[in-house]
Amino acid sequence: MERYSLPEGMRYATLEERKRFYTEEFDLEKVAGWFGKRLAGVKFAVIIGRHTKIFPEKYREDAETTIIIDEYKNLNEVRDEIVEFLPESAYYDRNVYDAEDCKTGQELAFDLDPENITCPIHGDLAEKMKRGQGLSFCSLEFDMVREQALRLYEFLEKDFSMLNVVYSGRGFHIHVFDEEAYGLSEKKRRQIAREVKKKGFAIDEWVTVGEMRLIRLPFSLHGLVSRVVLPLEKSELAWFDPGNDERCVPRFVREKPTSS
Ligand SMILES: [Zn+2]
Repeated sequence: MERYSLPEGMRYATLEERKRFYTEEFDLEKVAGWFGKRLAGVKFAVIIGRHTKIFPEKYREDAETTIIIDEYKNLNEVRDEIVEFLPESAYYDRNVYDAEDCKTGQELAFDLDPENITCPIHGDLAEKMKRGQGLSFCSLEFDMVREQALRLYEFLEKDFSMLNVVYSGRGFHIHVFDEEAYGLSEKKRRQIAREVKKKGFAIDEWVTVGEMRLIRLPFSLHGLVSRVVLPLEKSELAWFDPGNDERCVPRFVREKPTSS
């Protein structure tokens, strides 16, 4: 099996580039629009340098830690925190909490990742892991995962009506905003995850089941591939190309040819 890393043009963002993105391009209005009235009480989180090993020196000890951002007055303060940490990744907590900080529900989500795709060139997940390439992917795997996202969206439409699909930087997330989905039991979530998996979708079960409650923040920077996490219309799944779509290519990539 061939060794590989990332599709052409994708690479780690430097600290300077993260800073530039979050000060110049990170669109708080769009972030607010994503949450709507669900924004109240949302917890955010960042990981500074777990995979990239790129972190501000003063945060060396916390580089791999998941840092929760839950004390803020508005999204400007959230951005200020992000600019302080300059993380490789930013997330939000899908759990919904009451005033006493008790969990009252969880947004249902599906995480489709290219590493879970069995590639005719690069093999299956086990083979990729054996080579230490669990975070690598190729454009063929991406196209397959995009096709899966469309089919999963259509499958979920039978049960849910408020679906949102997001380009996650590597693959796709499907978020379910239907009121009743927030109240699903863990058992029911597990059933749904198994059913979806059995249909052949390359999802990470633990995201759907809820064990992993954090999900990538739309409109944030995915620092492993230098792409903006971008909500899409279902119709765009037929052709969406993160290599060239201006909406998800940060300025620091557009203005400078890739050097690594
Ligand atoms: Zn491949």
